[in-house]
Amino acid sequence: MTTEFDYDLFVIGAGSGGVRAARMAAGKGKKVAVAEERYLGGTCVNVGCVPKKLFVYASQFPELFHASAGFGWHVEAQPRLDWATLRDNKTAEIERLNGVYNRLIENSGADLFDGRATVTGPQQVLVNGATYSARTILVATGGWPYIPKFPGSEHAISSNEMFFLDHLPKTAVVVGGGYIAVEFAGILNGLGVETHLVYRGATLLKSFDREMGAKIAAGMQAKGVHLHLNTEVDSITKTGEQLQAALSTGSTLDAGLVLYATGRQANTAGLGLETTDVVLRDDGSIPVDAHFATAEPSIYALGDVIDRVQLTPVAIQEAMVLVDHLYGDGSATIDYRDIPTAVFSQPEFGTVGLSEEQARADNRDIAVYVSDFKPMLQALGGGSDRITMKLVVDTQSDAVLGCHMVGEHAAEIIQGMGIALKAGATKAHFDATVGIHPSAAEEFVTMREKAR
Ligand code: NDP
Repeated sequence: MTTEFDYDLFVIGAGSGGVRAARMAAGKGKKVAVAEERYLGGTCVNVGCVPKKLFVYASQFPELFHASAGFGWHVEAQPRLDWATLRDNKTAEIERLNGVYNRLIENSGADLFDGRATVTGPQQVLVNGATYSARTILVATGGWPYIPKFPGSEHAISSNEMFFLDHLPKTAVVVGGGYIAVEFAGILNGLGVETHLVYRGATLLKSFDREMGAKIAAGMQAKGVHLHLNTEVDSITKTGEQLQAALSTGSTLDAGLVLYATGRQANTAGLGLETTDVVLRDDGSIPVDAHFATAEPSIYALGDVIDRVQLTPVAIQEAMVLVDHLYGDGSATIDYRDIPTAVFSQPEFGTVGLSEEQARADNRDIAVYVSDFKPMLQALGGGSDRITMKLVVDTQSDAVLGCHMVGEHAAEIIQGMGIALKAGATKAHFDATVGIHPSAAEEFVTMREKAR
């Protein structure tokens, strides 16, 4: 325990990264405080990954009810969704997880402050009216949805509100072409809402492999999502409870809800960082060095607030690297290459490594393998789903540079592929691996014909 300071480490923000850093530092015998003004577990637990995935499960049942008929099941009554049950059961589960986080922090020995903390100097934090000194401060305040300003933008909601809707609308407009937009378009559509996805670009999920983005768009359309690509929302007007979005194409869309999923911005406003030498980018995010140090030597930052890779497992790994740097032997590192990720769109998308476009832009000589087929469930169950798998291979070294999948269980399958890529797997390794039959995943080890 330190004598000079009240705390060795004061963590602001009890999200995935902040909590992991606090627990690990406390585990190393450091005196640690964590302050959280909103909810324990941060975005992921409260208004992100976890409740989103529960909603994705909920939205997949109609297709399963439908498929069950081909397997001999007779569902006597028309299945009907009770939104309030889904929403409230989800909230109860999140509250359970908030409790788990509370206990994790308490059991680690760290002090938890329920309140908004502000920085009042390089080694000083103000929370709940008291000022504490800390040798090191960690800013792990995450991000917040960004909605651009335009006529009527105040009528749009963000993903935060989607988890607590009083009722589901008949029709919804979702704006954006990234993770959150495609995920919520799939959820709403699956829950029976007429869903329009409005995106200003030509290809959804444009930072990923373009062929896969096109497959996801086609799959979403086949499931009933109305896509409006190369289209912007010019304005939103509200009459009673009804909204109308005027589109750049000249047409209008009536909807009970307009969701803007147009990115997230770092949560640094009003944090008091101007009392220190911490530098912010124009968008509010905090640049840090390889050890997550800001321009102020006693202040570190990690997770969404540094805007490197906005993913929970990345924030957690960053936290472990930071604690090792501060209190361990400093040998831990984080490698931002080949981070597997999934978009829980419908159809689902999993990806690791380079897209075909990135590999070509790298001037690599590549071979591309693609397999596109119907999932086995469809043999009796019907439905529109397809599965697409793709390998991008370096022809010189035979290394698998990228591994991409659209279709059922893509996230589960790509997690394993992530290990293979980390281990430097070659196409020959894939070919020498025995498949699991019958599975979709076996296709990854039986791709013999180059598509390009
Ligand atoms: P993204 O950055 O993924 O996508 C933002 C989208 O909004 C882009 O399509 C962008 O278009 C569009 N956009 C931005 N500004 C405007 C504007 N002014 N008008 C119209 N469209 C605009 O952000 P998300 O909000 O979807 O998600 C934030 C982050 O959260 C993700 O990047 C991801 O890291 C993380 N996340 C991860 C999930 C997962 O792991 N499954 C799930 C959800 C979120 P353009 O492409 O043209 O720039």
